[in-house]
Amino acid sequence: MALLTKAPRGTQDVTPRDSHKWHCIERVTAEVAGHYGYREIRTPVFEHTELFQRSVGETTDVVQKEMYTFEDKGGRSITLRPEGTAGAARAMLEHALYNDGLPVKVWYQTSCYRYEKPQAGRLREFHQFGVECFGTPDPAADAEIICLANSIFDHLGVEGLKLEINSIGCPTCRAEYHKALHAYFADRSGELCETCLGRLDRNPMRILDCKSPVCSKIAAGAPSMLDYLCDDCKAHFEKVKAYLTASGLNYTVNPTIVRGLDYYTRTVFEFVSTQIGAQGTVCGGGRYDGLIDELGGAHTPSLGFGMGMERLLLLLDAQGITLPEEEPCDLYIAGLGARAQVEAFALTQKARAEGFSAECDIAGRSLKAQMKYANKIGAKFTMVLGDNELDQGVAKLKNMANGEQREIRLADLIASLYDARFAAALDGISAIGGMDESTAAALGKMMLGGNT
Ligand code: ATP
Ligand code: MG
Repeated sequence: MALLTKAPRGTQDVTPRDSHKWHCIERVTAEVAGHYGYREIRTPVFEHTELFQRSVGETTDVVQKEMYTFEDKGGRSITLRPEGTAGAARAMLEHALYNDGLPVKVWYQTSCYRYEKPQAGRLREFHQFGVECFGTPDPAADAEIICLANSIFDHLGVEGLKLEINSIGCPTCRAEYHKALHAYFADRSGELCETCLGRLDRNPMRILDCKSPVCSKIAAGAPSMLDYLCDDCKAHFEKVKAYLTASGLNYTVNPTIVRGLDYYTRTVFEFVSTQIGAQGTVCGGGRYDGLIDELGGAHTPSLGFGMGMERLLLLLDAQGITLPEEEPCDLYIAGLGARAQVEAFALTQKARAEGFSAECDIAGRSLKAQMKYANKIGAKFTMVLGDNELDQGVAKLKNMANGEQREIRLADLIASLYDARFAAALDGISAIGGMDESTAAALGKMMLGGNT
């Protein structure tokens, strides 16, 4: 029976208790991306397996161990997307988005699937906010996406994240580096884990990304890519740093950052937190100048990042940042008796049509139970309708915040709700059909740096 009442390992439900948090970070990420000229792209949750093998790379953990791959009924190999870049790149080529002008700047919020060992901050279904910028080799673009990620953290009020950057060069200078790395690790091959032994010949840089304590200790003493950068890659990295410095971003150069995916070139970066446990990378990305060629497109230098939404939420929690709750109900109309209940239903519909959130009884409850429910949902105003009210066409509208009651004509209900909204706006408190002051302040701070 547990199969019927328990979600699969490594997945998480988002229930109404938390969905407001997701709405909030989704809004902030989309809005900030918009400020940077990015537009949304949506791609399928599954793609041809070959797409990920080719783009993410055969020697990566993702392709070797983590993909959800299955054969569909037509005998095709299909994979649930483990990340967002491959699908966005495929769609960019398929729809020739490059014809709309370069660079093509897109963002997405997607679920991703990786068969990993579930733990805090590591799930089998997780969500990424990501951006991709196709078609510019310029270091200003690298700095721009780093600033974009940073703006998201700023708008949410997150503090203390460490920005670490590195350059992993281009295929030309990396060839020399691979030789040096290979020699270094080959000398210590007896101590490497089995996976890394396999990587030694095929892609020794992957060893730098190994999470096993022994391998990472060996990796700490490995030669640094930065000593092998060619002049072009060096100049590129210097410019990225200059742009970041000019924008006031603090960063650390960390030569061990190589990222988990094979397609990266030159700039790679991570935003890392020490507050959410071992899985501290909240955002990771970089440049992938060869990816589009790899997929069969014309040479299109590009870059992007992925931000783990679950890790972002863990971080917000860890920093005690509360996200605004969804607005409670503006009006609850209780009905006493069959006739009144029908009228309550109709009036509730009228209020909703005017843009107020309104509820009435749909569970056949007693008047007492209806009022209890109205309290529970935090209705800002309540009104009780019985035969008397219907006969006289008047009822009492009660402001639940201060207990004040006002007799209104039922025909004027909507006008009264507008009055209440207006009065609340003037007072700056307990707005109805809008947001209350604390919500507005919190949202304002998050959305636009707060001129509330
Ligand atoms: P890690 O080193 O943590 O495994 P990665 O290099 O595999 O990360 P990317 O492929 O760059 O991660 O994905 C970008 C971001 O997506 C990560 O920085 C992280 O915030 C998030 N992420 C990656 N894998 C998971 C996962 N299994 N569960 C939750 N979030 C994840
Ligand atoms: Mg990983």
